[in-house]
Amino acid sequence: MKPTVVIIGGGLGGLFTGAILAKEDFQVTVLEKNANIGGGLQSFTRFGETFDTGMHVVGGMQPGGNIRRICNYLGVLDKMMLRDVDDDCSDLLYFAEDKKHYAIAKGRQGFVDSLAQHFPHERENLQRYVDAIFSLTEKVDAFNLRPESVISIMPDVPNFLMAANDYIATFIGDPKLRSIIAYMNPLYGGRENCTPAYIHAIISVLYICGTSRFVDGTGRFALTLADVIRDNGGQVIAGDAATWVEVNDRMIDHVDTASGARYTAQHYISAIHPCALMRIMDEKALPKAYRSRLDSIPNAYSAFSLYIKLKPGTFPYINRSEYYMGRYDDIWQFERADKPWPLGFLFMTPPDARQGQYASKVLLTAPMPFDMVRRWENTTTGRRGDDYLAWKREMAQRLLARIDEMHPGFERCIDKMITASPLTIRDFYGVKEGSISGFSKDCRNMALSQVPIVTKIKNLLLTGQNNNLHGFCGVPLTAIKTAEALLGRNFVINKINSCAER
Ligand SMILES: Cc1cc2nc3c(=O)[nH]c(=O)nc-3n(C[C@H](O)[C@H](O)[C@H](O)COP(=O)(O)OP(=O)(O)OC[C@H]3O[C@@H](n4cnc5c(N)ncnc54)[C@H](O)[C@@H]3O)c2cc1C
Repeated sequence: MKPTVVIIGGGLGGLFTGAILAKEDFQVTVLEKNANIGGGLQSFTRFGETFDTGMHVVGGMQPGGNIRRICNYLGVLDKMMLRDVDDDCSDLLYFAEDKKHYAIAKGRQGFVDSLAQHFPHERENLQRYVDAIFSLTEKVDAFNLRPESVISIMPDVPNFLMAANDYIATFIGDPKLRSIIAYMNPLYGGRENCTPAYIHAIISVLYICGTSRFVDGTGRFALTLADVIRDNGGQVIAGDAATWVEVNDRMIDHVDTASGARYTAQHYISAIHPCALMRIMDEKALPKAYRSRLDSIPNAYSAFSLYIKLKPGTFPYINRSEYYMGRYDDIWQFERADKPWPLGFLFMTPPDARQGQYASKVLLTAPMPFDMVRRWENTTTGRRGDDYLAWKREMAQRLLARIDEMHPGFERCIDKMITASPLTIRDFYGVKEGSISGFSKDCRNMALSQVPIVTKIKNLLLTGQNNNLHGFCGVPLTAIKTAEALLGRNFVINKINSCAER
């Protein structure tokens, strides 16, 4: 008899953890509240175009990359349709304050050379900075898929837990260059004086090594992971939310769902936001101090997105990501609702399978603090009122005006457009305050913001972005840790390392 496990949440974390356990002979059942599985991997089709909801740029997929090796072990590599961004300009940054463009080339040397063109007096400092972030990430066992000798992801490395903004400043003197170096900060919910240097280093190293984008949407990859679970005898049930988790004597007895079904297993894994889990349990199920601690951890800021269908043949396909930033000084201020919005955004033309010279769609994501939508926080989708719709139109117009600075005449290329706000993200993923990357890590109190995968409930583990690093580069690493809590330390890591790329 296979050991049984029920996973609540069929997003990135639930599917990766489920796929690993199914492959390693667990009887896996994944419960997903939405009609379509995937969470941040989910795509939707509107106006005949496929748009991604929460996974626009991914790292770790270059030859030898850590996520690539995990996908190879799962046997899904050849089913992933990815397109790498351009080598000579993987990212283009535009700062409206002085109308300057910075084209960043791929690779360690490309990064240094690209920025040294604009800041020749900082070349040596740039080199020292890049060497330092690569050497810092080299020390993280989990990131490098190295077997761990102790249960810890915190290596004893100088400056590992320094605030990312201070860390950058130890190398770089020029204040503008410091801001430019932090340009990926919205991708990890970066906060001034809070975000630890290691998060900045890991994300920056991954992106410097090269990023990719899913062709025709990320949703197919969610289905591929679900296939691994099903092919190994498991099930993935969509459109049925977990509504109650019954706990007796610090053990889960069963999970009830919206459809009235009841699921029992030997092991349970929560792949949803821990605060959402607490709401579907008796309040005595977990110690009060633990619950208060989870409630008190701030969440990273949210985002406002535009999904645009373009008129055919009007706007070029751009094989890179573009970042708009108003002022250099605002690079660490995305959580501030008192600043004129938007401070910046990510602009991209996602690729199709038959991608030609022109783009058919544009996706734009601008960080936004939840406080900007707090007045509608007690409303539900489709019933938020006319004032909310008018506000969304105004936000869209503000973004379009900024795009025009980067791409004059862009508005004339738009055929149709829809918007998504932090409330959309909150209700769609069930994530507190619509956060794009879950619990915010605070280097001043890592004990508070780092949530272990084990809980006081003996047969409950956690997985997903709230435990360690978020996103495509972080959640699969935590999935390994969660799976290894059942399979044995380094069990999965050793298998991944013994798997030659097919
Ligand atoms: C706008 C946006 C842009 C982003 N861009 C990127 C990017 O470019 N690159 C990148 O790497 N990361 C990006 N991210 C982050 C990435 O999407 C997340 O880090 C990742 O999806 C988190 O995985 P997860 O499994 O923890 O949560 P999710 O993927 O959110 O999965 C949680 C799942 O649980 C389900 N659920 C919730 N409650 C219940 C319940 N009661 N019962 C059953 N199911 C339930 C949800 O519907 C969801 O499917 C972005 C996020 C957002 C919002």
